[in-house]
Amino acid sequence: MSEARVAEVLLDQNLEKPLDYEIPENFRASIQIGSRVEVYVRNTLRKGTISILKKASAFAKLRPLHRIITESTLSDPLWKLAHWMSRYYCSPLQRTMKCFTPPNVRREVKPKTRLTARLAITREIALELCKTLQSKQSAQAAVLEKILNSERPPFLSALLEELKISRSPIDALVKKKALTLQETADDALDDAEFFPSPPKTLNPEQAKSLEQIDESLQSGAFKTHLLFGVTGSGKTEVYLQAIQQALDLGKSALLLVPEIALTSQTIERFRARFGLKLAVLHHRKSLGERSSAWESLKSGETRIAIGARSAIFCPAQNLGLIIIDEEHDSSYKQNEEMPTYHARDIAVMRGKLENAVVILGSATPSLDSYHNALTGKYSLSILTARATRASQPSVRIIDMKSALDKAGGFSHFCPDLLDAIKDRAEKGEQTLLLLNRRGYRRMQICSQCRYIAKCPHCDLSLTYHKGPNTLRCHLCDYQSPLLRQCPSCQGSSQMEFRGFGTEHVEKSLSAIFPHIKTLRMDRDTTQKKNSHEEMFKEFRAHKADVLIGTQMIAKGFHFPSATLVGILNADAALQIPDFRSAESVFQLIAQASGRAGRSDLKGEVILQTFLPQHPLLHLAAAQDYPTFYAREIEERRQFSFPPFCRLAKVVFSGPDETETLEAITHFRKALVSAALPEIEILPALPAGHPKIKDRYRFQFLIKTRNILPLSDCLATLRANASTSRKIHILIDIDPTSTFF
Ligand code: ADP
Ligand code: ZN
Ligand code: ZN
Repeated sequence: MSEARVAEVLLDQNLEKPLDYEIPENFRASIQIGSRVEVYVRNTLRKGTISILKKASAFAKLRPLHRIITESTLSDPLWKLAHWMSRYYCSPLQRTMKCFTPPNVRREVKPKTRLTARLAITREIALELCKTLQSKQSAQAAVLEKILNSERPPFLSALLEELKISRSPIDALVKKKALTLQETADDALDDAEFFPSPPKTLNPEQAKSLEQIDESLQSGAFKTHLLFGVTGSGKTEVYLQAIQQALDLGKSALLLVPEIALTSQTIERFRARFGLKLAVLHHRKSLGERSSAWESLKSGETRIAIGARSAIFCPAQNLGLIIIDEEHDSSYKQNEEMPTYHARDIAVMRGKLENAVVILGSATPSLDSYHNALTGKYSLSILTARATRASQPSVRIIDMKSALDKAGGFSHFCPDLLDAIKDRAEKGEQTLLLLNRRGYRRMQICSQCRYIAKCPHCDLSLTYHKGPNTLRCHLCDYQSPLLRQCPSCQGSSQMEFRGFGTEHVEKSLSAIFPHIKTLRMDRDTTQKKNSHEEMFKEFRAHKADVLIGTQMIAKGFHFPSATLVGILNADAALQIPDFRSAESVFQLIAQASGRAGRSDLKGEVILQTFLPQHPLLHLAAAQDYPTFYAREIEERRQFSFPPFCRLAKVVFSGPDETETLEAITHFRKALVSAALPEIEILPALPAGHPKIKDRYRFQFLIKTRNILPLSDCLATLRANASTSRKIHILIDIDPTSTFF
């Protein structure tokens, strides 16, 4: 390293190319690739990361590096991962680095520390002292007693709060040299209560899965396992024991869960097994807290990390195991900005680079992962039975057309569902009702000229929200008052409403059963930080009989007394023109059904549909994944969609419709001229949402056999595109949706 005179620096702020800086003499010994540094750009100090060290630069006069912030930020495998990601997702390295240097790193946020109170004397002496202090200085005695009875040194704040004392007795004990106060990294413990839970004896299927995983762990070689098990089959117990195996081998483990499942309920399960030795990476935590989690992983002090999508980039040392729970979940994909990475795919790549074992777990695996398992790329373990006495719920499919004909008018609920809800409420059991649309009424339309109230900034009809009494755009949050008169024909005719949302369902249910308490959970009711967690707690504490919500209620939660799940419009999502829509509907129904009857009580699912014959619904109802897979994979093969080809999506958006269309057409032509082998370039068309926030959107799809040559080509085209700066280009590799 000592020969390097020049460092290439990737600046944190949006520059597409790295800049060269001279390495001052006194920095040469310590500087490395991955060092965080501060440099002058014109007259401002900017931060960045060193990407390359070299002997000389093509530029004559270089400015020196100003300051080293930290000597190294990235381990070798993470650095390689960043390079791979940058190429694969055709996203410049500096942009990709953003994933590896989150805000706590970029802003040099100091880890949050807290004071803990530790004994500075032996337990025996402390006991003695406690006795002598008892009569005259009872507060001091109480402090000692508390510490003696704690498994680990308590936080000062916890002592003060629990004993309801001021600091003076503690200061007195410090003065007596009986106590010391020490700064410890706050491992983001919310002072939550948790009860130790020892490992469970595994059932034969679990044991077999764990054995296979353990074999891979022991061998120290990269291997991906797909753990396919119905909800409640005990996947989490397998994760817990696999993590223990990794720890026993001196390695660390990383667990990813979908954003919405990163609640205290989930975290408590892991704390109950591993105590405080885990780092929770959570965007809802303060930067200081995130910084302590990050640093303790980096130093190797903490060897278990739990987090959502972006935690896949955390600096866990000597990583032995990566677990992606609910691997099919769409929240693992970053869609809106580049790099458009998928955390599951990053996990597999990181596993490869770190020689780690990867476990992908799901009750409804993505078609891609299951395909990889069947073709031998992944090892497949199956858990077929629920781990506890709970049995699989029974599912009824209700033909809504005939139900409504019989009832003689519209209702959200077929009579069977109403009976079932009433029955559960009487028995003190709970119900979940799922409808995939929030708001009260879906749109306002003129009864005469069919004018539809639309967002002026987006190509989307406005949804009526009754609570705030406004029309709202679900793409940009634009709001307007209700229309009294049609702005188009200004006739005397009425504006009518069409379609329904969760707000309406809640209101209707309360009208039918005034005594049944409901709780509604959708984007509108969960705006505040932690609000969805609070609502889950409320529902679990049985503060309501019925939980009504959008798909967010279908995911990964355990409500012991929920025995009924009603899916109000099971087939709605089938109308979305996307090659994955069948897969998502299957997942949604199977996952929602998994919420019913997770304890001793038998669960039931009622599926309302206007397509009662649709085979997909029957397969989902029977949780028959293999048959669903066989059908679906055949369709993918026939129409040549992933996993039988690789897909990329190019999206252009800009304020001027014609200009944007011209730009994408030009870009597409350039790609056609590049004449890559085995590639199919589909026509440029308006995107599924052709206009969002006053920007017109066009897209085209590319099918190919090999992503990397395509990525390289797209990256070059993008870098050289002479499009106006107002036009934004998004390249989405392996898009999860072709519609949006
Ligand atoms: P999954 O993660 O597949 O949904 P969980 O791991 O949550 O399933 O398991 C469901 C329930 O079964 C939990 O309450 C769990 O404690 C229990 N469980 C799991 N494995 C066992 C086992 N081997 N013996 C007894 N109970 C188990
Ligand atoms: Zn009109
Ligand atoms: Zn809008």
